[in-house]
Amino acid sequence: MTNAKLDALRGRIDEINLLLLELLSERAAIAQEIGQEKEKQGVPKHDPIREKEMLEALVARNNGPFDTDAIRHLFKQIFQASLNLQQNDHKKQLLVSRKQKKEDTVITLGPVTVGGTKPIMVAGPCSVESYEQLRTVAASLKQAGVHVMRGGAFKPRTSPYDFQGLGIEGLRMLKEVASEFGLKTISEIVDPAHIELAGQYIDVIQIGARNMQNFELLKAAGEVRTPILLKRGLAATIDEFLHAAEYILSRGNSQVMLIERGIRTYEKATRNTLDISAVPILKQESHLPVLVDVTHSTGRKDIFAPCAKAALAAGADGIMVEVHPDPPTALSDAAQQLTIEEFNRFYTEVNKNGIVF
Ligand code: PEP
Ligand code: MN
Repeated sequence: MTNAKLDALRGRIDEINLLLLELLSERAAIAQEIGQEKEKQGVPKHDPIREKEMLEALVARNNGPFDTDAIRHLFKQIFQASLNLQQNDHKKQLLVSRKQKKEDTVITLGPVTVGGTKPIMVAGPCSVESYEQLRTVAASLKQAGVHVMRGGAFKPRTSPYDFQGLGIEGLRMLKEVASEFGLKTISEIVDPAHIELAGQYIDVIQIGARNMQNFELLKAAGEVRTPILLKRGLAATIDEFLHAAEYILSRGNSQVMLIERGIRTYEKATRNTLDISAVPILKQESHLPVLVDVTHSTGRKDIFAPCAKAALAAGADGIMVEVHPDPPTALSDAAQQLTIEEFNRFYTEVNKNGIVF
């Protein structure tokens, strides 16, 4: 082949490349429009039957020189790229997405804000057990300068024979003690029927890891205006976590905080694996505040402080930790709650230079 002939053929290929690019772009724009229409109609983006029909029609019309497998492979790539476009467009449209709302969502809890200028510390017992227990913890939080107390009244336990919590009476106790000490409260709700009522007792409704995809509970949480603390599911991807939050926002409650609490992996050195990378990813993808629960993620008091510092360094808007006046007698999570003395040491260490509320 002479150089002139080679150059001419290559010139033709270059032209065809440009034509293909134009056609692919035109096709992609139509795929995006189809995606928007599917979004409106609430139908799934991926339609394998339609994809199969398109491939069969193309294979039937193929006269070579590419063989059937090559044609299938090439067009599948095009289909996949179009589907990716539709799915990315869908993500951008989510209410939780930073593409929808650039500014951070800031939630006010009395004297503190979550997602604002400074990270917050949330501390308190795993379960509400007694007035004495709550008052001891509340007094020490107050003295340390912590403004938000947690305490579970509905406990989702692995075994039905373990302590299940004091229920509504526990919420009542939490409210009473918190108001004596001027603290804000967080407690888990497990039943959609309790969501509305909970607003009378607590300042933040926690939806626990086991209920992250309890869609009826999420919908009920979306109907009220009480702030929600949504925990990441035991084995939830970041995408599933964000879609769970979307359930709440889509019903009108925009006061949602996300909390990474560790996910299940093969690792046995910690109770769960604290996914620190989730913090910057969630902060990038969403405008919602992101907290880290060092207690349920690591389950190890000896590494709470470094993990809390890592979480803050990664951009977390807050830390949650469990504290109990006498952990060995605690009715739940006895092994991983800090004593008051340990909490004070932990807080001093994490709060160097007063970086935490
Ligand atoms: C809790 O915070 O009390 C709790 C039960 O945590 P999780 O849902 O993350 O297991
Ligand atoms: Mn606990």
